[in-house]
Amino acid sequence: MDWMIVDGHQDIAMALLEDENWDFARPACERHALSLADSKRGGVVLILGTVFATAGYWKDSTPADSAERQMGLYEDLLTKHAADLFRVESKGDLKLCQAGGPIGLIHLMEGADPIRSPRDLKRWARRGVRVVGPAWNTGNRYCGGWDDARGLTADGRRLIAEMRRQQVIPDVSHLKPAAFEDVLDCDDGILVASHSNAHALQPHRRNLTNEQIRAVAARDGLVGVVLYNPFLGEGPVTVETVLDHVEHMVDLVGPDHVGLGSDLDGGFPPADAPQGIDSVADLRRIGDGLAGRGLDGEAIAKILGGNWMRILRRTLPE
Ligand SMILES: [Zn+2]
Repeated sequence: MDWMIVDGHQDIAMALLEDENWDFARPACERHALSLADSKRGGVVLILGTVFATAGYWKDSTPADSAERQMGLYEDLLTKHAADLFRVESKGDLKLCQAGGPIGLIHLMEGADPIRSPRDLKRWARRGVRVVGPAWNTGNRYCGGWDDARGLTADGRRLIAEMRRQQVIPDVSHLKPAAFEDVLDCDDGILVASHSNAHALQPHRRNLTNEQIRAVAARDGLVGVVLYNPFLGEGPVTVETVLDHVEHMVDLVGPDHVGLGSDLDGGFPPADAPQGIDSVADLRRIGDGLAGRGLDGEAIAKILGGNWMRILRRTLPE
């Protein structure tokens, strides 16, 4: 069956920076599960491409400079593949993300380190950054990381308020429980966990508890299932393991609040992704597997792409 897929988390710019021999246009290989060719073949209509520039990760530049460099790499891709890839900036652009059409690209900033102040967010939003995670694993001026006691700082609360004004969605995926709670306390707006799995099935700190999954759903958001084996299970991890996480969340909150955030080029090779998923072209196997488990087509379409579309339609500018 052909599904329309939205992939809510892909570190494309990071992969380009880390492997200068990687060509986004060439089909997936041993080192990279992502390519434009495989995205098209697999029915991907929209990708959230990350800007990953957390302090200290890229030794040779500041977060702001590194983020600029990554935005430049995305510009290059958009120019080079203009017929196949375009930046989604509005609700109208979302309508163009259809099977057989060009693939839409929206930016997700993973860790708000490059944003110099809450007021600086506007500049990034105008350039297509529509989802922002306040912190990655390490903390910054907005939010504590895993190794410090802070949740959201005063600036972090201001940043969330500014996100609402600039029509940017908060991403709670890398937040520790205290920071997650602080984001919930800021307002009652929509939020996503772009790439996290169910803690009940795999008790990794990057995964969400049932209570957190319910909290995301209560805001009409979604949890994007991530295809990195350590976040999925112990021992052999297969497509069935992925289906277990999806089914668990659907049982908990229904099919409107689960999506995909594959992270298939998130700094790990295809060998660390579930057996049966060698490239993004195999994401559709999740749809086929869910059908095999008795989920109806409407629910599957939402999980594979419809839910991301709903949330972005609600949030993007006219
Ligand atoms: Zn991540």
